[in-house]
Amino acid sequence: MSELKERVALITGGNSGIGLAIAQRLAEDGARVVLNGIATEAEGQAVCTDIAARFGVSAHYLKADLRDPAQIERLMAQAQQIGGGGVDILVNNAGMQHTSGIEQFPVDVWNDMLAINLSASFHTIRLALPAMRSRGWGRIVNIASISGLRGRAGKSAYNATKHGLIGLTKSVALETATTDITCNAICPGWAQTALVERQVEALALREGIDIEAATRQLISLRQPSGRFVQTGQLAAMVAFLCSDDAQEVRGAAWTMDGGTTAL
Ligand code: NAD
Repeated sequence: MSELKERVALITGGNSGIGLAIAQRLAEDGARVVLNGIATEAEGQAVCTDIAARFGVSAHYLKADLRDPAQIERLMAQAQQIGGGGVDILVNNAGMQHTSGIEQFPVDVWNDMLAINLSASFHTIRLALPAMRSRGWGRIVNIASISGLRGRAGKSAYNATKHGLIGLTKSVALETATTDITCNAICPGWAQTALVERQVEALALREGIDIEAATRQLISLRQPSGRFVQTGQLAAMVAFLCSDDAQEVRGAAWTMDGGTTAL
């Protein structure tokens, strides 16, 4: 029987990209999954129907805009109700990106990025932890980025939020260090998802090159492997962090980046 059987996992931004791969993998390992996102109910339900059919677990979609703390409170209450009073696994994956020099950086985008990429995790963690503590087990995995470990021009907000998320991860890991609750971060390099495709398109437009050339430029120059990290590989890392073997992994910020941070 799978270790995760009957665990309930909430994955923010779980309806696409890395989050969807994580939801599918945890479902494959037996967890009941709750996906959050900003897609329509119909789109979210379609993803959940597919997961339930493929893996034989229950899958729920809860639409909530993580920029709004009141919506996060509602999301957590609904997710914990589905989980019989709590969620066992919390994956803070939702995120957004915008690149621009700091002088031109739109203030509303800065505020949105802080809210989605950082503050939302503060809220979900503070709301999920009490039930994890009373159940005596929990796994919190925050999807940070190599941008949480190093800087890049044009990414002031993204760098700030992802560094902040790793700081939050360490602090929560220490606050739960004597329990069977762990909190860790994963730092992906480039993975081919909508978030990156938008950056490829922007680069193509800026440089007047086609999408293929822009992809090559983005990946080959910056990721030593010369290829994308696969979302399923990132999901496998999350699954390991949720396993009993990972019990003493605490406050880590694990990279999976094709060698980028080795440079
Ligand atoms: P994606 O665009 O497919 O996923 C982002 C998810 O966040 C979507 O499901 C979206 O619904 C959700 N989201 C966005 N705004 C939201 C809001 N206001 N409220 C609720 N949900 C919201 O992109 P992805 O690449 O799968 O990104 C997932 C995570 O991985 C992000 O945190 C991103 O920063 C991180 N990441 C991605 C890469 C990469 O190369 N793709 C690299 C490093 C880190």
